[in-house]
Amino acid sequence: MPDTINTATSLSQNKGPLYASPPKIQAKSVKGFYRRLKNSFLWGGLALYHLTPLLRWDRGEGKTDQAVQFDISAQRIYLFAIEVWPQDIYILTGIMIFAAIGLFFSAALWGRAWCGFTCFQTLWTDLFVKVEALIEGDRNARLRLGKAPLSFEKVFKCTLKHSIWLVISAFFSLSFLWYFGDAFQTTQDILNGNISGWSLVTFLTLLIMTYLMAGFAREQVCLYMCPYGRFQGVMLDEHSKVITYEDWRGETRQKPGKNRDFSNRGHCVDCTMCVQVCPTGIDIREGNQMGCIGCGLCIDACDTVMEKFGLPKKLISYDSQHNINQRAGKIPVSLTKSKTSLLRPRNLVYLTILLTTVSLTIFGFSSREMTKITVLKDRVPFFVTLSNGQIQNAYTIRVLNKSDQDKQFGLSASGEYVPELKILGQTDNTIKVAAGQVVTLRVFAKGSAPQTAAQPVTFELRGQQNSETITVKTVFHTGS
Ligand code: SF4
Ligand code: SF4
Repeated sequence: MPDTINTATSLSQNKGPLYASPPKIQAKSVKGFYRRLKNSFLWGGLALYHLTPLLRWDRGEGKTDQAVQFDISAQRIYLFAIEVWPQDIYILTGIMIFAAIGLFFSAALWGRAWCGFTCFQTLWTDLFVKVEALIEGDRNARLRLGKAPLSFEKVFKCTLKHSIWLVISAFFSLSFLWYFGDAFQTTQDILNGNISGWSLVTFLTLLIMTYLMAGFAREQVCLYMCPYGRFQGVMLDEHSKVITYEDWRGETRQKPGKNRDFSNRGHCVDCTMCVQVCPTGIDIREGNQMGCIGCGLCIDACDTVMEKFGLPKKLISYDSQHNINQRAGKIPVSLTKSKTSLLRPRNLVYLTILLTTVSLTIFGFSSREMTKITVLKDRVPFFVTLSNGQIQNAYTIRVLNKSDQDKQFGLSASGEYVPELKILGQTDNTIKVAAGQVVTLRVFAKGSAPQTAAQPVTFELRGQQNSETITVKTVFHTGS
């Protein structure tokens, strides 16, 4: 009871809000190796995303010439020379397993390099911040502008920034739609206002989400929304490379003042440059944290400071904890010879899964059947007895031709029991399937009653232009 009273009292005494919004992060721009690397990924990633749907690939008449397209209405995915049918879904499964394990593998090797350099949220936020810096200036200028009273300059800069953000968001959204239809036709349709309801909803949703996520939510996505950031810790070990402040060398930190003698003090001059450039606003000197996306910008910032003071670079380093502990003398001398190892059990497991996935997917794809037949036997009725005493069963068969050539087959039955087959509406048993098409037919099988109630029967499609033969097993019923 006293506990309850104390809690109630302390809550009633607490006049502050129960939730405080995090301060807006205005990251300072920085130059250096990691900034250049991030720029390469930014421009390379944007070019890849926007230009891929514009690439052409000749597939012959009647087919899209877009190199990469997810054609939902035709239930087809085109990836250059590869054409994925719904029946080939294992290829997508293989790609997804590869992507997931590849992410784990990259985390085991390079920590959160994916988050810092290639994640869409990182790329678009980086682009939005570049636009912001171009219009409003670097960190200090932006902070000043934020605090300044309303003026023509403030309104103008703010309007211009948000307008450009919206144009970028619209372009991102448009490029997304390009992947699901012909890119040029889609653009023309949108410009003419000829857009379907679902396309419009997708376009507007993505536009708004990009504008909000890259313009406003930014690092909050990495800190609170992204599940990968939450569990990435379990994928790291002491040999994984992570961004780390080498406290054994930096502490005790101290403002430099006029004393430039670093022989009896830590190398960190407490300039906070590493914090000011951080896109998630964390202080890496407090240790590895979930908020660190591994972008390396704090390394660039600190290296510049170290250079200025004539101190060795890499006070903040991108290295394994194992190597850092070695440098710090925390690992016994007898063990210090071992450097970070690439051949670690978890890496070998990831590598084995990756290679197995790739091999199985390639094998499955290269050995996939270009013609597929499915036979569905009627269940109601199971069979009918004809006036001449013969038994008749009915089937629905579907023949799928995944190849680029029209095909023609002869349908027959084979096996121990061979009923007579007849395709409904045809005088012969020839099946013609155009390239990339599916035909559905009704087939009747009739014969004298076999000894058993269900007799195994094999339907056989024999190619009339080549030696291709496809068989499928089914049954012939004479009793329920
Ligand atoms: S940038 Fe380097 S020197 Fe400056 S506060 Fe950060 S760790 Fe210390
Ligand atoms: S701490 Fe360094 S590496 Fe981590 S997010 Fe901040 S700037 Fe990037």
